[in-house]
Amino acid sequence: SYPNYGRIDGNIVMIGFGSIGKGTLPLIQRHFDYDADKLCVVDPNPASAAFLAEQGITHHQIALTPDNYRQVLGGLFPDGQGFCVNLSVDTSSLDLMRFCRELGVLYIDTVVEPWAGFYFDMTDNAERTNYALRQQVRDEKAASLGGTTAVSCCGANPGMVSWFVKEGLMTLARDLGRADPVPADRAAWGALMQSLGVKGVHIAERDTQARAKPRPRDVFVNTWSVEGFIAEGFQPAELGWGTHEKWMPETAQRHDTGCQSAIWFARPGAITRVHTWCPTPGPQFGFLVTHNESVSISDYFTVGDPAKPDFRPTCHYAYHPCDDAVLSLHEMFGAGVQQKTHEILDVDEIVTGIDELGVLIYGHEKNALWYGSRLSNDETKSLAPYQNATGLQVTSAVLAGMVWALENPSAGIVETDEMDHARCLEVQRPYLGPVEAHYTDWTPLQDRWEHFPEDIDESDPWQFRNVLAT
Ligand code: NAD
Repeated sequence: SYPNYGRIDGNIVMIGFGSIGKGTLPLIQRHFDYDADKLCVVDPNPASAAFLAEQGITHHQIALTPDNYRQVLGGLFPDGQGFCVNLSVDTSSLDLMRFCRELGVLYIDTVVEPWAGFYFDMTDNAERTNYALRQQVRDEKAASLGGTTAVSCCGANPGMVSWFVKEGLMTLARDLGRADPVPADRAAWGALMQSLGVKGVHIAERDTQARAKPRPRDVFVNTWSVEGFIAEGFQPAELGWGTHEKWMPETAQRHDTGCQSAIWFARPGAITRVHTWCPTPGPQFGFLVTHNESVSISDYFTVGDPAKPDFRPTCHYAYHPCDDAVLSLHEMFGAGVQQKTHEILDVDEIVTGIDELGVLIYGHEKNALWYGSRLSNDETKSLAPYQNATGLQVTSAVLAGMVWALENPSAGIVETDEMDHARCLEVQRPYLGPVEAHYTDWTPLQDRWEHFPEDIDESDPWQFRNVLAT
């Protein structure tokens, strides 16, 4: 009874079988035709060996490294066809994507990941930004246009949220009584956003999933990769920088090469708070954790010369992770030490909660519109096995990206902003629970602590100066 999205010829190699890999497997099994003996997993962790053996799936217990990846992957894709689904940490997305395209093998990932060591050994903060990581992929695209499709950064965010921005803009246009056609290209999308008076976008997320047991001390608890979250949390705070901004924090730095859509601060994102809004809590703090989509969405919707744009939206993540993860961050940054024990909340131990992940599109005539998925852990159980609500928002985006790649096998390197958002959401939507649009009259000037003077701009509510919490 599930839609079949076609046949994958050749081998399917899943790199990484952690929370996202395990959740993606049943969606691949459900929605594609392929020869069962041609699917395998590459992951050094023995933890999933028994599960994979039960499923009859070959498990190569190897860590890919700069020295072995050509040999390992070359051996697993002997005949120039197949699909490489990269859901690992500590492998270079750029190297793997480049090699897959050389082989003629379709490729997808959910983040621009570097090789092991990069996040903590690299001393130059500008080099540790997502701007720098993404720009390498954009440079590779520019140097090698077309060819076998490689989908970059196709999870929930980065990924699905880029499709939500487009759906949100069309919803806003309709609700303003306009009859805009769906834009056909990037320039038209930028023009639409500009003409709607949008100033920026928060990737506004509230994860309320929780288990009954209180978080033990010295344990980092999260609803997806702890390793991935710690790595990005320690990267510099970073955001796409809009043309309406009149003020910049003192530690802000720009880039003078590449698309120039973003700035970064000399401060970790996971201890930098912003005022934001989601439907369930209303106003809340989120963390300004750096993400690829902050840079890509600001870049995609830029109108005019990238170095001196006529229009560009501000865009950043405003993430309230699950409460146990907030406590874990507090403990980690307070102690200056990373917890050694990591736990990802399992679908069956979670007793309550949803992952509310959407885009807050602000600054226009109707003030602000949140458009997103409000998927509960309970509903997730009835939709697909082996994952919590956070996982399913990610894995269903991977499914949508794989379908799009199969349908567009020679599109070269693409980001989710550059894909057909309507087709991708059509595939993904059955897995997202309620997908809703909520307008709010909240602005970052509301609900402040009135007893203390603040360095804010009361003349213009949606200035980043008001969004950044001091
Ligand atoms: P996880 O920590 O649960 O699993 C990562 C897996 O990668 C582990 O099983 C680990 O053994 C494996 N691995 C480590 N080094 C490897 C190597 N050298 N070669 C092959 N495999 C290796 O992480 P997860 O929650 O499954 O997340 C996987 C990836 O997806 C991460 O990069 C994460 O940042 C990304 N992610 C993206 C989104 C999104 O919305 N875009 C959301 C969640 C996770």
